Amino acid sequence: MMKTPLDQKRRVCVIGAGTAGLCALKNSLEAGLDAVAYERGTEIGGTWIFSEEMPKDEYDEVHSSMYEGLRTNLPKEVMGYPDYSYPADIDESFITSNQVLEFLRSYAEHFKLKPHIKLQHEVIRVRPRLDDWEVYVWDHSTDTCDPVYYDFVYVCNGHYTEPDIPSVEGMDLFEGKKMHSHLYRKADKFKDERVLIIGAGPSGMDITNHVRMSAKQVFLSHHLSTTPNTAFMGNVTQKPDVQRFTPDGAVFTDGSTESFDHVLFCTGYKYTFPCLSTDVGIQVIDNFVQPLWKHCININHPTMAFVGLPFNVIPTHIFDMQVRFTLKFFTGQREFPSREQMIAELEQEIGERWGCGVHNHKKAHQMGERQFVYYNELANLAGIENIKPVIHKLMKDCGKKYIFELDTYRSNRYTIVDDENFLKNGKATS
Ligand code: FAD
Repeated sequence: MMKTPLDQKRRVCVIGAGTAGLCALKNSLEAGLDAVAYERGTEIGGTWIFSEEMPKDEYDEVHSSMYEGLRTNLPKEVMGYPDYSYPADIDESFITSNQVLEFLRSYAEHFKLKPHIKLQHEVIRVRPRLDDWEVYVWDHSTDTCDPVYYDFVYVCNGHYTEPDIPSVEGMDLFEGKKMHSHLYRKADKFKDERVLIIGAGPSGMDITNHVRMSAKQVFLSHHLSTTPNTAFMGNVTQKPDVQRFTPDGAVFTDGSTESFDHVLFCTGYKYTFPCLSTDVGIQVIDNFVQPLWKHCININHPTMAFVGLPFNVIPTHIFDMQVRFTLKFFTGQREFPSREQMIAELEQEIGERWGCGVHNHKKAHQMGERQFVYYNELANLAGIENIKPVIHKLMKDCGKKYIFELDTYRSNRYTIVDDENFLKNGKATS
C-alpha cells in the first residue's frame, strides 16, 4: 500500500467521465479521498453522447457509438445508480440516449462532481512508480502535458470505441461499402439498399430493426443457436455465417449466395488501454484483461482498478458495486489477499469457465447469470450492500425478451414498488 502521510488525503485519478468514471469519482469523494476525473471529451457522458462527427483521418478517433433513434435495451428502473434513480415522472421505461445523458448530468450536479472533473484532459500515459502512479495528462485546451501523481487509479475509459472486425475470406474483393456499427448513425444512409448485417448481439439486432425501415432488403448473418424472432421484420432474411465474400456479395456457410450493396459489421469491440504503459503489468488477449482479481483489481499493482469490464450485466449497478468493493481495500477497511491467492482465485475461475466449455478469451468477462454470484461475492468479501432483489428480478424479466419480443418488449412500463417487487404494465410481479 502507498506511503502517503496519514494527514494527507489519498489521491485518486479516474480516467474517463462516462457512467463508470462518474460513479468512481462520486464514491471516491464520499470515501474521503481526493479524487479527480479526467475526461478527454468536451462533456461528460461518454457512450451516451450522440454526434454525427466522423473520424477526420485514420489516426482520429470518435468515442461514442451512439446512433439516432436508440432506445435503451434495459429499463430506466435498472439503469439508475443504487443511490440515485431516474426521475419517476419519465413515462417510458425504455428511454432515449438523450434522457440517459440528462440523467448522468443530473447525477454529476446532484453529487457536486463538476469541480472534480477536468474536461478536455486526456490521460496519455500511466506508469507505476515505487509508491504511487505517474499520470501524464494532455490538456487539449492549452496543448500542454504534465505529469501528476496519484495513489490510486480507476480505469474507466469505456469499451465501445475500437471496432472488432473478423477477418473473412475475400473481404478485400467485396466492391460495395463496408462499415462497423461504431460509425453507424442513421438508417437513412441505407435507403433502398440491399444490406448485409453481420452479428446478432444487442447492436446487430437493434440496428437491423432500424435499417430495415429504410433498406430494400436486409440479410442478418449470425451463428446464434437460438434464432432471433425476426418474423415481424418483413424484409429481413436470416443467414448463417459468411463463408467468403465475392465482388458483389457473399457465399454463406449453408452454400447460399446473396448480393448486396453495403456490409454492416455489428461484430463487437476490442478492449484497449492505450494510455497504460507496459509496466502497469496488464495484458489483453482477445478482450481477456489479465491478471485481474475479481475482474477489477490489477493483481500486479492492486492500487489500480478497472471498472466495467464484465458484460451481459446491469452496467450501472455493476460499476457501482465494483467501485464500492475496491474502495473498501483502497481505504484500508479491508486487506487484499496475497498476490498468490489472487492469482489462484483467478486461475480457479478461469478454469471453471473453460471447464464449462467456454474456452474463449472473448468470453472471459462475460457474466449473464453469473453476475448474481459475482455480486454476492463482492458484497460478502467487502461487506458492502448487495444489489436489491427487485433489480435482479426485473433484469431477468427483460433478459430473454430482447431476443424473442424485440418488436414489442420496449412498450412494457415497469415501476419499482419496493425492494422485492415491481409492477409491469400495471400487473404486480413477484
Ligand atoms: P463510456 O460511456 O464509453 O465512457 C468512457 C469515457 O472515458 C468517455 O467519456 C471517454 O471520452 C473517456 N476517455 C477514454 N479514454 C480517455 C483518456 N485516455 N483520458 C480521458 N478520458 C478518456 N447500457 C445500458 O445499461 N443500457 C443500454 O440500453 C445500453 N445501450 C448501449 C448502446 C450502445 C450503442 C452502446 C455502445 C452501449 C450501450 N450500453 C448500454 C452500454 C454502455 O456503454 C454502458 O452502460 C456505459 O454507458 C459505459 O460507461 P463507461 O463509463 O464504461 O464508458
